[in-house]
Amino acid sequence: MEPEINVFNFFKVWFLKALVYKQTPVVELQDSLSDMAGIRLLMKCEYLNHRFISGNKWWKLKYNLEEASRLGCKKLLTFGGAYSNHIYATAAAAHELEFESIGIIRGEENLPLNPTLAFARAKGMDLHYISREEYRRKTEPDFLKGLKELFGDFYLIPEGGTNTLAVRGVAEFANLLLHEAAFDYLCLPVGTGGTIAGMISGLDRGKKIVGFPVLKGASFLEDEIRVYTENENGQLMYEYHFGGYAKSNERLKAFIKEFERSNNIPLDPIYTAKMMFGVFDLIKQGFFKRGSVVLVLHTGGLQGNHPTETNL
Ligand SMILES: *Cc1c(COP(=O)(O)O)cnc(C)c1O
Repeated sequence: MEPEINVFNFFKVWFLKALVYKQTPVVELQDSLSDMAGIRLLMKCEYLNHRFISGNKWWKLKYNLEEASRLGCKKLLTFGGAYSNHIYATAAAAHELEFESIGIIRGEENLPLNPTLAFARAKGMDLHYISREEYRRKTEPDFLKGLKELFGDFYLIPEGGTNTLAVRGVAEFANLLLHEAAFDYLCLPVGTGGTIAGMISGLDRGKKIVGFPVLKGASFLEDEIRVYTENENGQLMYEYHFGGYAKSNERLKAFIKEFERSNNIPLDPIYTAKMMFGVFDLIKQGFFKRGSVVLVLHTGGLQGNHPTETNL
């Protein structure tokens, strides 16, 4: 069949080329715990999907970037903390797709820039710092109007990239997963809830989706997820935040080392390590049904694993 020649098709081809997606493997994790519990433990290594726009962020950005282009927006504006993987990924995507980008960063500027922000800056992102009080207003219409007056027209991507188009991208990814592996449970870390919402909406009711919030006091997530899907096949495990966002302790650090030594797979301390710790703990508790297959999603975040990081 002849492809239709129109500007939109041309754009799509160009777009997909620029945001090159690398196929990622599903690997089996071998360990005595899962043997004893009579389950199989698989990992989808989505952290390998793109060098800079890695893991779940690729899927969350996909349709947002398409939409920004379709609308003819030249500028992306988004929000994040100083160590945000979302800021990092958005800066990289904007650079590749030739958008201008503005990052509204929570808190004061600290020089020299940390590696996340230095990277974003190097990719051309315009960084603007606002106080924590102002940052709390980031979804208010008045506040956004002020930003338009300051920066002109832009395509808004919310904090963490979570919106309807992000959820649609993740649901598409969920559908791919169904063709790649047979599984009963899907486990993943949860920040703003966009990724788990996409998985819950994209997977059929036969699967159980188990999320591990990395924030303390994250019960707002239930409502947030319900904004995007009516499916009831998700469950949140609130016990594995290790004190809160980006908080850590010696036990978690030792766990990351041990996991990497036995599986040759790196984990990030903010998201994937807490999830993986939680998965093993649930295996010990007999949470997963004997004979079932548990697929864990490595969502990326490894850009944060730089040797100078001391904030944890
Ligand atoms: C952003 C991020 C998450 C959280 O995704 P949400 O959609 O905000 O829940 C999980 N893992 C990694 C590695 C991330 O960078």
